[in-house]
Amino acid sequence: DNCQAYPTPYRHTAARAMFATTAAACPAQYPLCRAPSSCRRGRRADSRARRGVALSASPEPRVLAHPMSFPPEMRTAVEAVQLASRLCMATQDILVGDDRAAKSDDSPVTVADFAAQALVGLWLERSHPDIKLVAEENADALRVAGGASLSSRVTSLVNETLASAMEDGFIESGSIEIPVTDTFVWDAIDRGAGSPSGDGAFWILDPIDGTKGFIAGRQYAVALGLMVNGSVCGGVLGCPNMPQELIPEDATFIPPQRPGTVFAAYEGKGCVAFPADAKDALRSEKNVTPVRADSFASPHTARYMESWGDSVVANGDKTSVIAKALGITRTAVRVDSMAKYGALAFGYADLYLRFPPKEYREKVWDHAAGVAVVEAAGGVITDGEGNALDFTKGRFLDQKGGIVASANPSLHAALLEALAKIDE
Ligand code: AMP
Ligand code: MG
Repeated sequence: DNCQAYPTPYRHTAARAMFATTAAACPAQYPLCRAPSSCRRGRRADSRARRGVALSASPEPRVLAHPMSFPPEMRTAVEAVQLASRLCMATQDILVGDDRAAKSDDSPVTVADFAAQALVGLWLERSHPDIKLVAEENADALRVAGGASLSSRVTSLVNETLASAMEDGFIESGSIEIPVTDTFVWDAIDRGAGSPSGDGAFWILDPIDGTKGFIAGRQYAVALGLMVNGSVCGGVLGCPNMPQELIPEDATFIPPQRPGTVFAAYEGKGCVAFPADAKDALRSEKNVTPVRADSFASPHTARYMESWGDSVVANGDKTSVIAKALGITRTAVRVDSMAKYGALAFGYADLYLRFPPKEYREKVWDHAAGVAVVEAAGGVITDGEGNALDFTKGRFLDQKGGIVASANPSLHAALLEALAKIDE
């Protein structure tokens, strides 16, 4: 009964059915139970998974999407991410051909990063001041005397984005009094200084993940997760360059396409995708598509994702060894950033393997929204040893053996089995 691997409606019925062919009928046998250490059966199943005992290959449970019944916080989260996505798109339009594009101290990317965090911070604060924010950036560089010029560019970008969103009716005119001041912007950014724990509610934000992709006009993401009492239950991923049409079977990357896609997911209520410029998407359900990671991908048909070029968090050699061990024949798809989690939920690819070097510590904002999206779409995400990710221990996210995500539980079991063998 501790099994958290499935959204509530499936926790008992579907998980039981799924493991009917394994030794016991408890859903906590599921190796990815979020509380394996508090449950004897969970511990046993966890150790069995590590030893590579394959799970039943019975059909995966269907996860339906009910966006109208997402809680109201999710609508605020979607608006916040859409505002930040607008800002990113506007910045990207002027980035092309700009030689200050690289992420230096006052590049347009840096300005957009701060401004996106400010916008999300102020929009969330407006409706849910009770939920703490944990976010990547802080306003130190803007508050110092030498930061005046950078700060004024950030504030201008926030004001321009709010003004244009009011002008075209995306947000109500007057919903925020503009122009906002520098101090207001600094405070909105510094709301993100929180540190997540297992008590209470936290937003977890990466204002722009994948700056390399952002600069190059490829994929990047605005990622906002919601954790309540230690469980990452909600997630919104804004991917302003993610197309909504199928990509070719042999595609080696996801071609950028505006207006991009927003993924919104809530535990037990599924995952949906809609155009990044859709207004009131969760309420009207217009242009909203329920998404599921491809249920039937097996190792032989699976497609995996790679970072683009050299990435701090990738290990191409290990990834190739695993792909070979799994018998993967399809070409890898290169995708920057947490857009990979959206791509997995959408069925553009089936596996994401992330193996940072030992000295690198993962951060919560690089995964929280992705976990909610992948899980609500029927996928699975754990560390490389099959442990559930624990977002309650502060701003770092410790893991063993990397972070791996799969389109479905049986594919994930095969992946963990291959990983355990390789690590031996
Ligand atoms: P990818 O797009 O696959 O290359 O992955 C980028 C990921 O690496 C994101 O989660 C970043 O937050 C993380 N990361 C950490 N340090 C860096 C860095 N110095 N440059 C780029 N990405 C970084
Ligand atoms: Mg990041």
